[in-house]
Amino acid sequence: MFNLNKLLRENIKKLAPYSSARDEFSGDAKVFLDANENSLGSPLLKWYNRYPDPHQQQLKKAISSIKNVAEENIFLGNGSDECIDLLYRSFCNPGKDNVIICPPTYGMYEVSANINDVETRIAPLLDDFQLNLAHIESLVDADTKIIWLCSPNNPTGNSLNRDDLEMVLNNFNGIVAIDEAYINFAKQKSFLQELKDYSNLVVLQTFSKAWGLAGLRLGLAFASKEIIDILSRVKPPYNINQATQELALKALEEVGQVNDMIKEIVDMRDALAGVFEQMAIIEKVYPSDANFLLIKINEAKKVYDYLLTKGIVVRDRSRVLLCEDCLRITIGTEKENTELVDALISMKD
Ligand SMILES: *Cc1c(COP(=O)(O)O)cnc(C)c1O
Repeated sequence: MFNLNKLLRENIKKLAPYSSARDEFSGDAKVFLDANENSLGSPLLKWYNRYPDPHQQQLKKAISSIKNVAEENIFLGNGSDECIDLLYRSFCNPGKDNVIICPPTYGMYEVSANINDVETRIAPLLDDFQLNLAHIESLVDADTKIIWLCSPNNPTGNSLNRDDLEMVLNNFNGIVAIDEAYINFAKQKSFLQELKDYSNLVVLQTFSKAWGLAGLRLGLAFASKEIIDILSRVKPPYNINQATQELALKALEEVGQVNDMIKEIVDMRDALAGVFEQMAIIEKVYPSDANFLLIKINEAKKVYDYLLTKGIVVRDRSRVLLCEDCLRITIGTEKENTELVDALISMKD
């Protein structure tokens, strides 16, 4: 049985969280002399002299209505990367506990584990980039706290089979973190509406990809109220700054515009995949549910260096397990995609 209290680190169980000035008084008042801010103002036009809402209530309310998830099930991080780190710091005892990752996948699960001195156990994806369930199962022991699953996966671009994800959710008594950074580009359904069925599920999403706000640093974790409360106690008090809270709130009014961009990116992705498939130097174009394409190409490193000489930067994944001779290419604007294709065509000589 899933027992959150048993998963939690002892020091976090006992943690008395920092109580900010804005926690101790959050009502309306005329004069705020409680937080050592600069009462004269700021060199900017806005009210940036004041600390932001540590609980991001307005922003969570807006996200709640768009995502159809209760506010108490939403946590906001300074990028998903902060959510990943907070899961380690809340659940994994350094030097003792372990987590499972399924490479090739997003690098931060392992980097963050290393920073937190947590062992990563590795169950590589199968040749079709799907989960190796038997291998995952064989790695789990009493100290396994988190299984990291990324769907659609970076850098392979495919979604993981839903049956496999459900199998892990139903059989693992630790945290199952499903990273849905690319879900807006996928045909697959999100696991967001499944939160009620799985008390061990954490869904990660981000404003960095489809929402076009990588510069603001805003990531989301969705989970049971109990898990969200833990992350909220462990986070730095003002982890989401005022400018990000304001701008994200504005962006959320433009869902229509974002959906148009998603559609345009997906159309360009599929068109570019078609063009790549016709090119002799490209050995394979992997199916993508994301805003990038993974391609297998002769002498990937040479192609990568050549593209650099043309001022085009792609991601060289050729030294990554199961991605030998692969490049990961983000879908650009129409013009950028054409430039890339033209460069590849003119490479022969
Ligand atoms: C880009 C990406 C993220 C986003 O991280 P942020 O810190 O929110 O920018 C998370 N997970 C995966 C798999 C990604 O590719």
